[in-house]
Amino acid sequence: MEGGAVALALVPEFQTSPGMRDILPPESARWRRFVHVFAQLAQGAGYGQVVSPLLEDLGVFQRIGDATDVVTKEMYDFVDKGGRHVALRPELTASICRAFVQHRPLTPWKVWYTGSQFRYEKPQRGRYRQFDQVGIEVLGADDPNLDVEIIALGWEFFRALGLQKVTLLLNSLGEPSDRAAYVAALKAYFEANLQSLSEESKVTLQKNPLRVLDSKRPDDAALVAAAPQIAEFYSADAAAHFAAVQAGLAALGIPFTVDSKLVRGLDYYRHTTFEYQGGTLDSAQDALGGGGRYDGLVESLGGPPTAGIGFALGLERTLIACDDEGVFAAPASEVDVFVVDTTGGLEALQITAQLRALGLSADRAFENRSMKSQMKGADRSGASYAVIIGSNELDAGTAVVRPLRAERAPDGEGVQFTIPRSDLLQYLQKALT
Ligand code: AMP
Repeated sequence: MEGGAVALALVPEFQTSPGMRDILPPESARWRRFVHVFAQLAQGAGYGQVVSPLLEDLGVFQRIGDATDVVTKEMYDFVDKGGRHVALRPELTASICRAFVQHRPLTPWKVWYTGSQFRYEKPQRGRYRQFDQVGIEVLGADDPNLDVEIIALGWEFFRALGLQKVTLLLNSLGEPSDRAAYVAALKAYFEANLQSLSEESKVTLQKNPLRVLDSKRPDDAALVAAAPQIAEFYSADAAAHFAAVQAGLAALGIPFTVDSKLVRGLDYYRHTTFEYQGGTLDSAQDALGGGGRYDGLVESLGGPPTAGIGFALGLERTLIACDDEGVFAAPASEVDVFVVDTTGGLEALQITAQLRALGLSADRAFENRSMKSQMKGADRSGASYAVIIGSNELDAGTAVVRPLRAERAPDGEGVQFTIPRSDLLQYLQKALT
């Protein structure tokens, strides 16, 4: 009975919902840096950030297409208190297109975004119900060089994180009429071989034959491998666009593999599609991100016919790849200075404020603990220096400075010295910058 009570006490009443996680320090600092690296690259290429609501009218997302699991099965939707049927966003392309229609910015509209997405999926490693993405979209320009710029930006980002094992898959779906002819041929092919198709793929075939090519089920492998190829259906324009994209990537020295199975299921996709795969992840979760060129999404949301292209990269999955490759570790959470004050705490209050005003990071102990306990806090903080104020220092107008790291203490770690209080800030600023 007693044991049961103890066990119960260890399990808190409330925990995160399945597929949702708390991101604690120092991992959260890594997340911030991840977004910072992406933002630097995107801003440097002329993209501005769009911050849009987490919640939109359900209809915004339904326009993505009703043949996708994201829309049909995984949406977090509900009727709000005003009777509106809304949904937490499962992705951001639709929101960006909705914002474009609402605000009518000048084109080409080059934007980047970051934030959480919500999909009611079966949680597993690399697959969560709340996950984060960074991404970009460009609306209003139909130029193969733009496809190259975008694909290269994603590539550079992975490079900037230090990832070496990412590969780039590339395909083209051609013009919408090429794609329609291909879909018809694909449907006829799979229907003629229905007996060799898995039950799941038979259902997919009825909704969207292209998506059958995405099947990772072993039963379907042989049939999918021998399926008609999209390249046989390219018009001259489509072939020229695809050739230009490949030439552009080659000119930038970005390696890629053409994968005719990379179709991305949405009806809006045309021309270029691409995916970045992590070399270290399980095949079911190895897509770090992907994107492509799309038409019609802006129109379906009430705007003019507008060409669009973009990608979204998964933050969690990319960080798993970073862990696997041993790159982009969480930064150590360290402060520059830790103030130890055994005179009541007011000195620490002032000195930390003054240090922070100078741009240094500073922390201190609270609750007027003993010198020993405060020094433990200083060690834990990872600070380069401890500043110690006891009653002697307070009376004499001085401070003790103790270097806490060997590289800061030429005379030996822990060798401390006393300086006039009036010189303290200047000394630390000089030593730490
Ligand atoms: P998508 O919008 O489905 O093309 O997803 C783009 C990227 O977001 C994927 O390549 C993943 O890295 C990431 N992603 C998608 N769904 C999830 C999920 N449920 N959990 C974690 N990451 C995801």
